[in-house]
Amino acid sequence: MHLSSTPKMPVLFLGHGSPMNIVLDNDFTRSLVSLAAALPKPEAILVVSAHWLTDGTFVGCMEKPRTIHDFYSFPRELYEVTYNAPGSPAFARAARDCITKAAAQCSDDWGLDHASYAVLRHMYPAADIPVFEMSLDYDFNDWHPKPVRYHYELARGLSPLRRHGVLVIGSGNLVHNLRLVDFSPDAAPYGWAVEADEMIKTHLVRGNHEALIDYADTGKPAALAVPTLDHYLPMIYALALQEKNEPLVFTYEGVRHGSVSMRCFRIG
Ligand code: ZN
Repeated sequence: MHLSSTPKMPVLFLGHGSPMNIVLDNDFTRSLVSLAAALPKPEAILVVSAHWLTDGTFVGCMEKPRTIHDFYSFPRELYEVTYNAPGSPAFARAARDCITKAAAQCSDDWGLDHASYAVLRHMYPAADIPVFEMSLDYDFNDWHPKPVRYHYELARGLSPLRRHGVLVIGSGNLVHNLRLVDFSPDAAPYGWAVEADEMIKTHLVRGNHEALIDYADTGKPAALAVPTLDHYLPMIYALALQEKNEPLVFTYEGVRHGSVSMRCFRIG
C-alpha cells in the first residue's frame, strides 16, 4: 500500500506500572496527558506490548481490536473499561512488512491489552486514532526468549514507519520485579531498584545502546531489576529507533510499589 509521508514522528517508551493506572488520576497519568498534548497528531499508534508474548513476532491486523483485561484480582471498575480505538490493518501490514530480521505475521486473535490502554486512555481519551500492537517473540519452543540484541536488530526495521505518521510506543517498565512488589500506596523504593533505574538512566542519557543491550546480563542488580525480559524489551524497541544524535528526554520518573520504575522517555 502507499502510505503518505509525514515529518518524522517521535518515539516513546512508557512505563505503564500497575493496572490501577487505567482509572487513576495521579501525577503519572497527568504526565501522559501533557506528553500527548505536545506530540504531533499520529496517523496510527503502534504499541510494542510487554503483555503480548508469542512464539514468533506478530502484529495485530484487526479492524476493531478488542479490549483485553489481562490482570487478576483488581477492582471491578477496571474490568468494565473498554478502549474502542479502531485498528489499522493497512498500517499493521506495513509494520509487518518492515520487519526483515524475521518473518513477522498478522494476528487476528489478540487486541489491546493494558500495556496499551493504561497509557492511551490518558493520552488519547477519545480513542479516535487507530492503534495496533506488536508482540514480543518469547520463543516458547526453547522456553528462553530471544537475546536482547535480536530484538534490537528486529526493531530497527520499524524505522521507516516514523516518516509515515506512526507513533511507536514501547510499553513496559525498566525495572519490574513483581515477586517483590508492594502495592501499598506509600511503599518505599528498594535501594537496588533505585540504583538500577539510575544506571539505566545514565546509559540512556549517554546514548549507550550497547550497555542497555547488555544490561540484562550483568549480574545481581539486573537479576533483581530485570528478572524477566518482558517489561524491559519494549524499551529496546524504542531505543532501536533512536537515530544518531537524536535527543532523548525523560517525561516521567520515579520508582513505585518498591520495585517498579515508572521512568518514561521521548525520543525526537
Ligand atoms: Zn505490565
